[in-house]
Amino acid sequence: MNLQTMMAKKVRKLQQLIPRLHRVGITHKKLPLVLKILKTQKTTHLIDVRYSTLYKSKQGFSPQHLEKVLGQANITYTYYQKLGNPFHREFTQKLKTAINPKEIRQVHDEARQEYLNFIRSERKNLIQLIFKKIAHTRATKEDHFCFMCYCDTSNPLRCHTYWLIEEMINLKRVELDLPPDYQLPIPMEEN
Ligand SMILES: [Zn+2]
Repeated sequence: MNLQTMMAKKVRKLQQLIPRLHRVGITHKKLPLVLKILKTQKTTHLIDVRYSTLYKSKQGFSPQHLEKVLGQANITYTYYQKLGNPFHREFTQKLKTAINPKEIRQVHDEARQEYLNFIRSERKNLIQLIFKKIAHTRATKEDHFCFMCYCDTSNPLRCHTYWLIEEMINLKRVELDLPPDYQLPIPMEEN
């Protein structure tokens, strides 16, 4: 196989993975809307990565209730408290004191790096486990994975679910022998 064909094959493998990774933020949403979003995404596996599930548990977002309703919709539910972002509170505090776009961006980048360092050291085995599930399942094309957090944001600099998606894509890139430098596109407006 020549180099070009090999590269095209790698890119194709990546392109098969990326559209199967999703996220959802629940803060301003009710359960039926979240279920509708999951359906639109074609999610088959919901990966809950909230640090705590207390907030909104009475609105149907407790792990027990989610497992039940998602099961009825043929979606598997897994809660990984260990993948919650322990630095989130500190991150939002720092954001409040940042005064200009440059500083805001710096806080964002540091928060992202801090979380990535954390999962790469303290949560290495768990991350590998999820990666295997995501990138190596048999019925890959049918399997869509959605990471769930509170953050109702479309800004990849704001929520650790984006960083987890980036990490999954980068692990795939490492596997394919491509540089692990993937970052999700950042929207122009940072607010
Ligand atoms: Zn979040």
